[in-house]
Amino acid sequence: MITFENVTKVYQNQTAPALSHIDVSVDRGEFAFLVGASGSGKSTFLRLIVREIRATSGRVLVDGRDVGRLGQFRVPKLRRKVGMVFQDFRLLPGKTVYENVAFGLQVIGRPSAEIRQRVPATLDLVGLSTKGDRLPEELSGGEQQRVAIARAVANDPLVLIADEPTGNLDPATSVGIMKLLDRINRRGTTVLMATHDAMIVDQMRRRVIELDAGEVVRDQSTGAYGTA
Ligand code: ADP
Ligand code: ADP
Repeated sequence: MITFENVTKVYQNQTAPALSHIDVSVDRGEFAFLVGASGSGKSTFLRLIVREIRATSGRVLVDGRDVGRLGQFRVPKLRRKVGMVFQDFRLLPGKTVYENVAFGLQVIGRPSAEIRQRVPATLDLVGLSTKGDRLPEELSGGEQQRVAIARAVANDPLVLIADEPTGNLDPATSVGIMKLLDRINRRGTTVLMATHDAMIVDQMRRRVIELDAGEVVRDQSTGAYGTA
């Protein structure tokens, strides 16, 4: 589903590569954690997948396509296959929960009959079926992250990318978010999650890819956060 082939990324005006000769594949249906110290290259890895940035050399394939070679008109098509959630939720503050989830479907041109069916189904999936009329500011952090996840998966993407999704949440709330991501993964969505949350990684026992200074230093099929 996601393949990095000898990928190196050097940012402009930098000498050290942010990522160096990365060869990694994440298969359809997998759940993988991306771990590593701040500055190790996790965000760069995720940003390459959604073509926010391009590799300096090597290829990044998503669903069989070289995303570095997609023309500008093809990038939106890629983004429809890849949902994203972030540490800071990034909801639209003036819109209700329902509208936040519907908005993502509207901008990609889904028919309104489909939106009226998908939004409630997705809110149900994330456990927020009674909160569609609330504004984000009226929700807890965990509930806001559930809205963000609903928005990311409403279109049934092939891949869900989560960049520190529990970074702003307390441990109990984080466990609830992980159960939700696990449920989404079991429905068939490939999940790739960058995290510093050792407790979560240790509890989940899924694949762990560790970066250090832009290189993959560990790739375990059922790993822990640390190597102890
Ligand atoms: P992480 O997400 O693990 O904290 P990043 O991918 O953000 O790591 O950063 C990897 C390296 O690339 C770091 O040395 C960082 O300073 C550098 N870097 C990240 N973004 C940029 C940028 N836009 N321009 C220049 N250097 C960057
Ligand atoms: P449209 O984008 O007009 O709805 P299609 O989905 O049939 O039409 O695909 C049109 C173009 O998209 C073709 O050039 C095809 O090569 C390209 N394409 C096909 N499959 C994919 C894919 N999985 N991801 C991105 N582009 C694709």
